[in-house]
Amino acid sequence: MIKINHLLEVRDLKVCYRTYRGILKVLNGVNFTVEKGEKVGIIGESGCGKTTTMKTILRILPSNGMVCGGEILYDGRNILEMGENELNIIRRRKIAMIFQDPTAALNPVFKVGEQFMDILKHSKILEGKKPTEDELKEEILDMFKEVMLPDPERVFDSYPFQLSGGMKQRVCIAMALATAQELLIADEPTTNLDVTIQDQILRLIKDLVDRRNLSVILISHALGAVRGLVDRVYVMYAGNMVEVADVKELFREPKHPYTRGLLASAPKLTGGGISKGIPGRIPDYLNPPNGCRFNPRCDQAMEICREEVPPFFDLGSHKVACWLYKEEDENG
Ligand code: SF4
Repeated sequence: MIKINHLLEVRDLKVCYRTYRGILKVLNGVNFTVEKGEKVGIIGESGCGKTTTMKTILRILPSNGMVCGGEILYDGRNILEMGENELNIIRRRKIAMIFQDPTAALNPVFKVGEQFMDILKHSKILEGKKPTEDELKEEILDMFKEVMLPDPERVFDSYPFQLSGGMKQRVCIAMALATAQELLIADEPTTNLDVTIQDQILRLIKDLVDRRNLSVILISHALGAVRGLVDRVYVMYAGNMVEVADVKELFREPKHPYTRGLLASAPKLTGGGISKGIPGRIPDYLNPPNGCRFNPRCDQAMEICREEVPPFFDLGSHKVACWLYKEEDENG
């Protein structure tokens, strides 16, 4: 049998946080894959573990975070077992992340150009190159033009506080693209920006990754943005992926009760009143419910839902972690 290597494969990932209240069991066995050149979306309510998953991939969890199980395979190699040198190559040449808050992502006491020079220089050194400062600056100014920053020279010599939110996010996108040669992770990249420029930033990311044929993981609350940007969507709830499908399929016919509630809660331009949303809230990770973590909020919950975690059932076009679909599983 031929073994297929995904670009990224997250297998049964479990992450906990130590807190003064006790151990929070946040990620509960996360599974997903990203292929070369593929754009993957991850949707779900705030607090369902999306950012924790991405930070674990880059091994930048806060000090109270612990990986309690699982593997993160990048091109077949487990990131969780890599030494510092190999990890540095991943972070500086292969995967980059754009964060929600561009203000927090930039160091306020250094000029933007100095920060970018530092990142680019280390990335080049890992490639065995020794660029001069003039060469680095020229490359950075080209990147600023590529992300359509007006007056690149002025931006280069500015401190972050001298730039608008949209300009700072463009700088962060340029920095990420300078180092991401294979996979870009965009974690809610427009959440903290004015509504008027959110669309511009998303379109910019799409154009840039298309031109470079990068793989992308886009995390977003904005379901419309995900719909227009990605090939495949995972739905995450309380530390588990609960559904995955091609983007059109998922929006056309969501299967998991949580996905149906999530899509029904999205505001619609056509009106129709204010949606009721999904009753209840994400569980307390100190004592999450047994079985399917969605069971306290699910109006179709059965006895088995409170006892056993549902595996992914394969429905052909969708994979769904819900006991309602056990009989429909194509393999089962
Ligand atoms: Fe609802 Fe049970 Fe499906 Fe969970 S497994 S979503 S509780 S029906």
